[in-house]
Amino acid sequence: MLSNLQENGVDAGRYTTNSQSIQFGPWHISYDVSCILPSVCSTKVVCERDDDQFCQFCIYCKELKIPHFPDMVFPKNVLKLAHESGSAISFNPLDALKCVASTADAIEVSCAEAWQEARPNAEKPKRPFDWTFSTNYKGTLTDNVVVEATNEAINFELLKQKEQILFYHDLTLFEDELHDHGVSKLSVKIRVMPSYWYVLLRYFLRVDDVLVRSNETRMFHMLNTDYVLREYTVKEAEAKDLSIPTSMMKDADDVIPILPVVQKTMHKLIMKQPEPLA
Ligand SMILES: [Zn+2]
Repeated sequence: MLSNLQENGVDAGRYTTNSQSIQFGPWHISYDVSCILPSVCSTKVVCERDDDQFCQFCIYCKELKIPHFPDMVFPKNVLKLAHESGSAISFNPLDALKCVASTADAIEVSCAEAWQEARPNAEKPKRPFDWTFSTNYKGTLTDNVVVEATNEAINFELLKQKEQILFYHDLTLFEDELHDHGVSKLSVKIRVMPSYWYVLLRYFLRVDDVLVRSNETRMFHMLNTDYVLREYTVKEAEAKDLSIPTSMMKDADDVIPILPVVQKTMHKLIMKQPEPLA
């Protein structure tokens, strides 16, 4: 119900959304770009009626268990890959933030200490949560997508080949500067080429002098196949084990290649054809 509201809620017309799309074989690929999530309720009269009409801020408060949101959340920055079978893969900040731990045991000690250091005057959050907003979000799949483990790897040589880029975009889903103590950012990039499409969803965390982490989901679809390859890679290192100071790590692209891999999984997402009507 609420996810439906997110698209059709009261404030739908209040945002100027910039949308672009492309058709790629059976896929309709589109993205929306819009503005930042307000930090307070924007339509109090409507939201207080509590009759299923809510502003973006109230939807986030209702759907999420974490007591704070990142400084910048772009609620309507959404990438969607819809398959003609009715199945779809999408990337949105609300589902990503649902994967942020809201339990006490999820908080790393070093990070909890850094939180206090970063906010000497701040009250400790009443409910424990992972204030780094670390998310293992791998995209949102509709129920009819079949997920299987696979040994098939993404052909990275193919990705390096120079082909004409038909469609490209880099969307920020959320970002927080951890009160000037680092960065926590989730972004998604899409590239459509004549023979394939490729998506990189990247969560990057740098807590200065504490740790650096990346959770990356890559999706690759070759034209005329009925599946998408999904590679999920977690990388992490403590600041003391890295040869460069964290303050020098301004660009995630420079840091991630040198981080050790902690976890890597490969899956095949199979786009099921709809059952023929009886
Ligand atoms: Zn509201």
